[in-house]
Order: sequence, then structure tokens, then C-alpha cells
Amino acid sequence: MRTVTRLAPFATTIFAEMSQLAATHDAINLGQGFPDTDGPQAMLDAARAAIAEGNNQYPPGPGIPALRQAVADHQLRCYGIEYDPASEILITVGATEAIAGSLVGLVETGDEVVMIEPYYDAYAAATAMAGGVRRTVPLVADGDGFSLDRDALASTITDATRVLIVNSPHNPTGTVLGDEDLRAIAQTCIEHDVIVISDEVYEHLVFDGRTHTTIAALPGMRERTLRISSAAKTFNVTGWKVGWVSGPADLVAAARTAKQFMSYVGSGPFQPAIAVALNTEMDWVRDSCAALSAKRDLISGALRDVGFGVHRTEGTFFVCADPRPLGYTDGEEFCRDLPARVGVAAVPVSAFVDHPEPWAHLVRFAFAKRDEVLLEGAERLRRLQA
Ligand SMILES: *Cc1c(COP(=O)(O)O)cnc(C)c1O
Repeated sequence: MRTVTRLAPFATTIFAEMSQLAATHDAINLGQGFPDTDGPQAMLDAARAAIAEGNNQYPPGPGIPALRQAVADHQLRCYGIEYDPASEILITVGATEAIAGSLVGLVETGDEVVMIEPYYDAYAAATAMAGGVRRTVPLVADGDGFSLDRDALASTITDATRVLIVNSPHNPTGTVLGDEDLRAIAQTCIEHDVIVISDEVYEHLVFDGRTHTTIAALPGMRERTLRISSAAKTFNVTGWKVGWVSGPADLVAAARTAKQFMSYVGSGPFQPAIAVALNTEMDWVRDSCAALSAKRDLISGALRDVGFGVHRTEGTFFVCADPRPLGYTDGEEFCRDLPARVGVAAVPVSAFVDHPEPWAHLVRFAFAKRDEVLLEGAERLRRLQA
């Protein structure tokens, strides 16, 4: 093993293993969280046109002006927050680079970085690259959903905390943090002068008439929050890698400093296409979200019929299910068996945590798939009853 110690724990992921198992058994892959249909036509056409017009060299470091303006306009329209496109918005190679660049640019060696557990795996790896020390605040069961353990928040965030990473709507649980949780986070971060990195890539994928609240809009938070989003989940373009980070100029400058030596720039011809999408295709997004909530219902109902305990999902691409009624106490074991046993793949929630006990039984299913794929998946899951 030649990989440096700080990255060694990240060498292999359960996601790769599950995808491999899915391929081996020709399984319906409900493990990986990407959509299997294309985004809005005008956006796809704009990308083709950009390439045809010769838009194929390095774009400007912070991103093309048209996209930074579109991101600013979009946030003003959606949340009433004004960002200066010149100094307060940075285009990145997906949300992934926005997260890594923000952490590498803001975290000193040994600084504490707190994240909500379960957490998206990139947060832990990027924290390690930045030399930060990871701490977690758990979600706890709340009815058939989850909410933040506010006592743990109060005891974990201290003056040693540099950054708190918030993710709502939340991957992997589909939780949308409630106003009380957001207010508690804001109050604690202001008290201890903590920077918030808010990963909001699922901002437009919330269901049942809910609306997304960005923590940046809470009093005292704009000046300490880097708001991160991406085209990937909103416009079904996970392969284009166009993301952005918005915040006060000094925080964005820190992210830009790191970003310019990670990728320099990225996604050249896709940037004008995403500007088009943000400016003109939000009706498409609303329809896509409505379709997604029906898919949520389809897969949740199918899992319930088979006998799973099914958690409430308020947004995102994901639903968490409990296979204990089917005789499996361990989610990882269940996910290793599932492709061979019935031809479906899922991922264990234990892959997203440092403290497995409360999560060990749960598994995550992704439902951003064509209905025929979900129906076939549901049909195969029924074999678990046999
Ligand atoms: C998919 C995802 C990302 C990565 O987004 P990209 O734009 O593809 O880099 C970041 N955070 C969460 C929570 C995600 O689910």
C-alpha cells in the first residue's frame, strides 16, 4: 500500500463493490444515485451549439460571466439573496470540487470539521485532504423520518470547530432539515464563529409542497456560509460536472485559491448550456420533481409491500429502508446478498457513517430511474418474500 495514511481509509468504497456485484448479476442498480434520462432539450442543444461554435478552450478561472450571472439571478429569484457575480460566485467542476476547494482553502491542519452523520462520503475524504479533523453530529429517528440531534450539535461545535458541513435535502436519508434544526445550526455557528459549507445540490428536489430553505438566508448566516449547488441533480447531467459556490467574497476567494490549482477551470462548453438551463428551464425542473415524487411513492410502496420498514423521504433521489422484518439485521450483508438473490442492487447506510450502531440495519435505494426500471426492480424485490 503506497497511498498516504490520511487517504488510506478511502482507497476502496462499498459503492464500487456494489456496482461490481450489480454488473456481475445483471441487477437493476438502485445503488447508484444518478438519473437514467436526459435533462431539458434546450440545455442539451446549447451544449452542442457551444462545441460547434468553437467554445472548446479554457473558460475564465471563476467561470464564464453568463453562468455566474445566471447563478446570481437564480438565487435572487429563489431565495431573495443577492450575490455579486464578479466576487461572490465561483463555478467549479461539480459540487465535488466546490466542497474540496472550500475545505482545502479554509481549513488549517488540525482544525475540526463537523458534518451531519450519515454524511456524503466526499466530505470525509476532502476533510482528510485538507488536513482537518472530522467530527460528526448525528441525525436521529423522528417518527418515520429523521431530525438533527441538537444536543450533540451543541456539544460537538466548539471554538475548535472551523467548518460545519450542512446537507439538506440530505443524502442518504432524504431528510429536509426543519426550520428549528436550521435555526439551531445558525445560532450555534454564530456563537462559535463557525463557517458553514451548505451542500444544497438537491435544493429543487423537495416533495409534497415543501419549499427549500437555504441556511444562508437565516439572520447572521450569509456572511459565514458558502452555499454549494450543482447542475448534476437539478438538470440530470451528472456527467457534465458543473457546480458552483456562492458566498461572501473572502470565503469564495479561499475556495478559488484552492480550486485554481485543482482543476484550474472546467466544463467549458457545458457552462453556457447550464446558464440557459438556469435562465429558462425551471418549469422542466418542476415537472421533473413532480415525476420524482411519484417515483418515490412507487418504490416506497413496493418496499413496504415486500415487508421492509420504509422511512419518509422529503426530497433527493433516495429512500432508506429497514430489511430487519425480512430477517436481515445487517444492511451491508443484505446488500451483498441482494444482487445474487433477486437481481437488485442497493447500498448500506453504514457506508455513510463513522458510528455504525444506529445505522447498521438500514439500506438506501435510489429512485431517479425510469418507471419501467423501478417496476422491474419492484417485481424482483417481491421474490424476497418467497
Ligand atoms: C451528487 C452529490 C454531490 C456531487 O455533485 P457533483 O456536481 O456531481 O460533483 C455532492 N453532494 C451530494 C450530497 C450529492 O448527492
